[in-house]
Amino acid sequence: DVTATKGLEFEDFLIKRELMMGIFEAGFEKPSPIQEETIPVALTGRDILARAKNGTGKTAAFVIPTLERINTKSSRVQALLLVPTRELAMQNSQVTKTLGKHLGVNVMVTTGGTSLSQDILRLEQNIHIIVGTPGRILDLAKHKQVDLSECTSFVMDEADKLLSPEFTPVVEELLTYHPKDRQVMLFSATFPIMVKSFKDKHMNNPHEINLMDELTLRGVTQYYCYVDESQKVHCLNTLFSRLQINQSIIFCNSTNRVELLAKKIVDLGYSCFYSHAKMLQHNRNRVFHDFRNGVNRNLVCSDLLTRGIDIQAVNVVINFDFPKNAETYLHRIGRSGRFGHFGLAINLITWNDRLNLYRVEQELGTEIQPIPESIDKKLY
Ligand code: ADP
Ligand code: MG
Repeated sequence: DVTATKGLEFEDFLIKRELMMGIFEAGFEKPSPIQEETIPVALTGRDILARAKNGTGKTAAFVIPTLERINTKSSRVQALLLVPTRELAMQNSQVTKTLGKHLGVNVMVTTGGTSLSQDILRLEQNIHIIVGTPGRILDLAKHKQVDLSECTSFVMDEADKLLSPEFTPVVEELLTYHPKDRQVMLFSATFPIMVKSFKDKHMNNPHEINLMDELTLRGVTQYYCYVDESQKVHCLNTLFSRLQINQSIIFCNSTNRVELLAKKIVDLGYSCFYSHAKMLQHNRNRVFHDFRNGVNRNLVCSDLLTRGIDIQAVNVVINFDFPKNAETYLHRIGRSGRFGHFGLAINLITWNDRLNLYRVEQELGTEIQPIPESIDKKLY
């Protein structure tokens, strides 16, 4: 969905007229959401950590501010656009050339598998932006064939791939050739742990943008309560008696626990379905169909069911067992916030879960608060 949400225009970024011309010649009329979020901040020179789905216009989000900040009166290399593959290098350099067409900015591509001697010749002309793969650029830097001492812009596209364990040492060594005062921008569709540790080590108070989760977590108020494993059912009972549940989904981490919990909930006097991976498909379908039609108020299930279900009547999701990772968390609780509906997500947290809770918050850039004494009905 490449349409603006804030209603900004490219003109609002106050960029050079020559750059505006390139943007319009590329056929871009309005900035996409990721462009609206990143370009104004990137233009100030601040570090950027941005996450957005594929096809949302990330390339121009880093190319436009990079181009704007190039001083064409200098003949030094001022920006490095790192990519994991040769194909992506070609593609990104093409975008950079198109957008920068009227600026007089010189762009070159260098990746493994191309002629090193030709690259060295090219570098003697006045190159402003290098697009390439880390290994090749590091080679050039080590042999003093490229001087990065004034290269103040360091951009990583598909950063999750660039920061795989094998690539990371190369990227980190490459950074030592850059000046200390540099802008680092990372763009990626996923943020594995390597990206987070890179951020902590090499980025300076980055502006973090996460357009992956915004939609799915919007409208969901998230709470946790600390509880011993042995007290979980009791805690659930308390929640049932205090909350105004329209329909709820309760997640467990194993099929065994799904069945056990469902029985306990029935024993407590509440109606309840359950569904898990080891059930026959047609039984699962029936449960799901009936739950959707409101036959029962509560559904206990494993993660199997979580992807892509939208049941608008569900206003409370309870993680009876806290999920193992952020991705699963998002898939479990994302639904109650869809279509602008409000919802509650309540996480029962044992002592062992506390690190995971912290990680999920970090990774999703969201806040899970301690559960208050009473919860405003307006929130769900
Ligand atoms: P990503 O890197 O996020 O996967 P790309 O940067 O490759 O996405 O862009 C996807 C497509 O959207 C490209 O064809 C690009 O030309 C187009 N595009 C990017 N920004 C805009 C915009 N502001 N207006 C119209 N099309 C755009
Ligand atoms: Mg891309």
